[in-house]
Formats: sequence, structure tokens, C-alpha cells
Amino acid sequence: MSPIPETQWAQVVEKKGGPPVYKQIPVPKPGPDEVLVKMKYTGVCHTDLHAMNGDWPLTVKQNLVGGHEGAGIVVAKGSLAQGIEIGDHAGIKWLNGSCLACEFCKTADEPLCPDAQLSGYTVDGTFQQYAIGKAAHVAKLPKEVSLDAIAPILCAGITVYKGLKESGARPGQTVAIVGAGGGLGSLAQQYAKAMGLRVIAIDGGEEKKAMCEKLGAEAYVDFTKSTDLVADVKAATPDGLGAHAVLLLAVSEKPFQQAVEYARSRGTIVAIGLPAHAFLKAPVFETVVKMISIKGSYVGNRQDGVEAIDFYARGLIKAPFKTVPLKELPEVFKLMEEGKIAGRYVLEIPE
Ligand code: NAD
Ligand code: ZN
Ligand code: ZN
Repeated sequence: MSPIPETQWAQVVEKKGGPPVYKQIPVPKPGPDEVLVKMKYTGVCHTDLHAMNGDWPLTVKQNLVGGHEGAGIVVAKGSLAQGIEIGDHAGIKWLNGSCLACEFCKTADEPLCPDAQLSGYTVDGTFQQYAIGKAAHVAKLPKEVSLDAIAPILCAGITVYKGLKESGARPGQTVAIVGAGGGLGSLAQQYAKAMGLRVIAIDGGEEKKAMCEKLGAEAYVDFTKSTDLVADVKAATPDGLGAHAVLLLAVSEKPFQQAVEYARSRGTIVAIGLPAHAFLKAPVFETVVKMISIKGSYVGNRQDGVEAIDFYARGLIKAPFKTVPLKELPEVFKLMEEGKIAGRYVLEIPE
């Protein structure tokens, strides 16, 4: 293994709104309970764009190295780092670390830890050659899976897998996936299918339509063309009564105010997408008489991570991604802002 250098290439957000600056910065040194991972590939999540734009009510680190779908190889570890060795393949996820001692950490709800550290948001993430993760939280990756394709699983995959479990939908039931053509959406379709669910994909444009049909969606409703989206989604369910579950992944407020209308009675709406300054709104009458459940779902715990990676390792999850060099992050952000990405972009980290 080549020695660890003192400096490295990274994409750094130096001011709110960006763009990120591609520059040399010091290689961080792992603390006692941390590992240093040499990044090979990292996915670009819409959350990274929210971090750059600072549009959430959550303080973001200054001079931020974003990114939280990083896959690579462990090259150094602290004296207290357990369960992962130098040379192991490892993933750095959104949840970089948590206290492991609060009620949430103790009950396997560590994403809810009040002291959680977030990769590429409150601590530096994966848009760099060498990234730090807490040993207790990095994902150990099977060596036979390729590090480019597994990268998007580390946030998008885990998040939608958890969201589908939270929806309570059972095999044979129908899930409407809103934002199905995006990074989370494309993976949600694959996890849903692997879990025996039937998928109605909702997004905009022909490229996303073709992708959703390829991924196995039974119907595609184009929100940019439909004149009655509610009727179209209901009509796409086998008996016309609406979707058993709705996964809201879009970075747009409208669907968060509309989902109750096409959810089936007793259905569950799971809010996952995080459009800035948005509100969930639902008619009280329909929510009550249809006995609708509305809930949020936030990434996943460490075991959700293990399970989501295992689905992938068993060959059940195949979603499209495009690979470009780390240098091209600003162009990826631009396409993302314009809603032009079908699936995910993965950045290749230079050697
Ligand atoms: P993305 O940009 O890849 O995908 C968003 C998709 O939504 C796009 O395909 C877009 O065309 C589509 N869309 C926009 N308006 C729509 C509408 N009205 N109806 C249907 N589709 C619409 O983004 P992504 O990386 O998949 O992330 C999606 C959101 O999820 C972001 O806000 C991100 O921050 C959030 N997120 C949340 C969690 C969590 O734990 N809850 C985890 C990861 C990401
Ligand atoms: Zn993410
Ligand atoms: Zn905690």
C-alpha cells in the first residue's frame, strides 16, 4: 500500500451557494475511535446540494467537504477502532458518528441521536481522497461488490429501504414513488420490487419514463404532463382505489400536499425528500375518513445499512448511474438543480 500523503484533492464549499472549489487540502488524521478511508467512488445526493445552498434549518460546517455516499478502502485506524481493519472495503454514510449512549442510540435509532455527526454536512465528507468515519458507523462492504455501484446504496439505498419498511406495505401491494426518476427514486423502485411490491412511478420527462419502465415500474405518471395527477395515479392501481403506500422523494412541495388524495384508505404516506421551506398539508376530512397515516423517515440505522447492502450484494438491486471525475462535481450539481439527472451520478476519486 502506498504511503498516506500529507495533502490531497478535495471539493470544498467555501461560501454558501458554492460552487465547490477543487483544491489541495491536508489529509485528516483519524482519532482513536475513527478510521481513515481512501475514497474510490462517491455518489452525489441531492442533500449535498442542500448543504451547499444552506437551505435547511440546520447549521452547516464552514469550508465544507460534502459527500456521504463514499466507498473505498481503510488505510489507517485509531487505537480504539474496532470491527474494521486496514485493507477492508468500507462505506462512509450520512451518519458519520453518534454518541452510542443516548436513548436513541441505545434503541437502534441512532439517526435520531442529538449529537449525531453528519458526513458532508457537520463534518467533512467524501468529496476528497481521504475521509474520516467513526469505526462504529462505517459500513463494512463485501469485497466482491464493485465500489462504484455500491456507493449510491450508502445513502439513497439505505434511505429508501428504510422508508419502504416504515411504510408497512406488504408483498403484492402498490407503492407510489414520487420522484421515481431521481437517485433515491431509481433505487426505491428496485428495493420495492425486491420486496414484492408493485410500483407506480411519478416523475417528469421521457428519459425518466424510459428508465422507470426498465426498472420495472407498472405505470409511469408524468407530473409535467398529467392534467389530473390524482386520477392518473389511482387509475394505475389494480382496482382503482389508490396506493397502499406513498414514498415522497421529490424535492418539491406540491406532492407533499397532494399524496393523501391518491393514497388508498388505511394507506401510509412516508415523507423522505426534504424540499427547503416546505410544509406537509393534508385535508383533515380525507385523512380522517380514509384513516391515512403520515410519517417521516430519516436514513436508516446501522442494521438497515447491513440489510440494504446485502440486498445489493445478492444482485437484487440494479439502478443506473453515470461516473465522472471528482473534478466535475459543479457540473453534476448544475444538472441536479435542473432536474436533469435520471438515476445517480457517481464521482471517481483520483488515485
Ligand atoms: P434527485 O434530484 O436525484 O431526485 C429528485 C427527483 O424528484 C427528480 O427526478 C425530479 O424530477 C423529481 N421531482 C421534482 N418535482 C417532482 C414532482 N412534483 N413530482 C414528482 N417528481 C418530482 O434527488 P435525490 O438525491 O433522490 O434526493 C431527493 C430528496 O431526498 C432530497 O431532498 C434529499 O435531500 C432527500 N434525502 C432525504 C433523506 C432522508 O433520510 N430522509 C436521505 C437522502 C436524501
Ligand atoms: Zn444522501
Ligand atoms: Zn446518541
